Amino acid sequence: MLTMPKNLPQPQLKPNTEVVLQKRYLRKDLSGKQVETPRDLFWRVASCIAAEEAKYNQSTCKGDVLARDFYDLMTSWKFLPNSPTLMNAGTDLGQLSACFVLPVGDSIEEIFDAVKYAAMIHKSGGGTGFSFSRLRPKDSRVGSTGGVASGPVSFLRIFNTATEQVKQGGTRRGANMGILRVDHPDILEFIRAKEKEGEFNNFNLSVGLTEVFMRAVENDEHYDLVAPNSGEVINRLRAREIFELLVKKAWQSGDPGIVFLDRINRDNPTPDQGEIESTNPCGEQPLLPYEACNLGSINLSCFYVPGHNDAADPARDGIDWAELKRVVHLSVRFLDNVIDASRFPLDSITETVRKNRKIGLGVMGFADLLYQLEMAYDSQQGLELGERIMAFIQEEGHKASAQLAVERGAFPAYATSVYAKKKLGPYRNATVTTIAPTGTLSIIAGCSSGVEPLFALCFTRNILDGERLVEVNPHFEAALADAGLFSHELMDAVVAKGSIQEMDYLPAKLRKVFVTAMDIAPVWHLRMQAAFQRHTDNAVSKTVNLTNSATEQDIFDIYWLAYQEGCKGVTVYRDGCKSIQVLATGEGQ
Ligand code: ADP
Repeated sequence: MLTMPKNLPQPQLKPNTEVVLQKRYLRKDLSGKQVETPRDLFWRVASCIAAEEAKYNQSTCKGDVLARDFYDLMTSWKFLPNSPTLMNAGTDLGQLSACFVLPVGDSIEEIFDAVKYAAMIHKSGGGTGFSFSRLRPKDSRVGSTGGVASGPVSFLRIFNTATEQVKQGGTRRGANMGILRVDHPDILEFIRAKEKEGEFNNFNLSVGLTEVFMRAVENDEHYDLVAPNSGEVINRLRAREIFELLVKKAWQSGDPGIVFLDRINRDNPTPDQGEIESTNPCGEQPLLPYEACNLGSINLSCFYVPGHNDAADPARDGIDWAELKRVVHLSVRFLDNVIDASRFPLDSITETVRKNRKIGLGVMGFADLLYQLEMAYDSQQGLELGERIMAFIQEEGHKASAQLAVERGAFPAYATSVYAKKKLGPYRNATVTTIAPTGTLSIIAGCSSGVEPLFALCFTRNILDGERLVEVNPHFEAALADAGLFSHELMDAVVAKGSIQEMDYLPAKLRKVFVTAMDIAPVWHLRMQAAFQRHTDNAVSKTVNLTNSATEQDIFDIYWLAYQEGCKGVTVYRDGCKSIQVLATGEGQ
């Protein structure tokens, strides 16, 4: 590791940053004593990732200068890499990616290999996604023993229990995605798997929908259930009934979600390496079997220029585009170096990752930026802003990847990728952009998460093993102070409610701008997801929030709109349908 410069400034920590860093990120010795400060942490990460530069002799950057640039990039909270990079860069573990997909083959050996590999990945802070679609259906014959197979759902239970037991030896508890194709004969059992609360609680489950299935829903037709091991048609179901069952389950508990598998594969940049069958746990990163990806997120609220905002003059739009461009280019270099710096628990993962070199640059702090610009999330203006920003990041991200390809060569599988066929590139990375949830990163950076609206203007947050943090949005507080409206009575009222929409004694403009997740109609949530998806190589993590009174028809409409708008999946959550929520308003706490 490079020696820390003597004059390296201390990071200016946001109110909750220290708590979160202490809990999971700062290194501890065997007795549990903290052995690094936040400054040590960010220098450890910056210098480890910059050190990779040395092996590229065409590099336009010098390692020590770059280390300082990376340090400043992170400690200005303009960009943060995903949690495993913060935790493990420059340590013996050295596993830096958040997202993995593992294949589950149709044999006991392959199933238990996957359980073992998942445990190794969870230990290092990564999340795993699996498709269970290749497993033969329940009750089919097992050739070698003459017995009968127990089917995907029963094997899922083994993965869930293993995850429970690993509990992340020191980093974090495991997260999994389990996907089953809608045409698998055990689909009904899978859809009902999480009916009992607490079942499969280490898994997000999603049903993989196909174009054939969606057309059958549209035309009210039946579709085939096919045994993956024999190709035999086992049954036929009415597509609309299954779709309606999915809607009903989403209404009841939010589970399972849906992903559009054919959409995902339409954007697969390396189809010659096989089909994409699954995503990572939160759904934003589709990957090939044995592939991993590291993510990083740009905090958009840092790019607001106060006093530069004039609706009549497009050149004065309140955003520092030049700085955003610089940060995108530096972040892409950072994430590409992370690939080289990362040590994976399996050779087949190292091989696949190095072949395609996928990275996932995304954003956080989008809702904060809207507040700063005094734009409503649920407005045409807000949508256009999201679309403009992501188009810019996508374009500059691809340019940065193309520049890296000049310095370092294209990703090894480029020649057989869709980019070569379309005469695009060469690029250093098979994918560049992904919108992550930024659950913990956004707390460290002190901004709103991903592209989500704020859950509440003031709220208590249950984080990390039951600890709670109270938060008031700083932009809301500032706007109230500017208008001379700030008072403790008002804050108490907002804490209790979470929303200001019913406070008609507040100015209309304030109420229009300071909307929260539950104030926003579901269709606007979905439109925003679609706007970002249009300019994202991978997928967008987004929850469409619904009020408790929302109907099944509301969910049906959202699912259908997601399909029509080209989303890769959709997650809905009806307020209060589960007893434990990660985020909650003050009411009833
Ligand atoms: P962070 O803010 O900690 O970087 P995100 O909330 O953005 O993480 O999630 C990004 C991805 O990281 C998820 O989709 C998943 O692949 C992985 N991940 C998140 N939480 C966990 C967890 N508790 N255990 C394992 N992997 C996780």
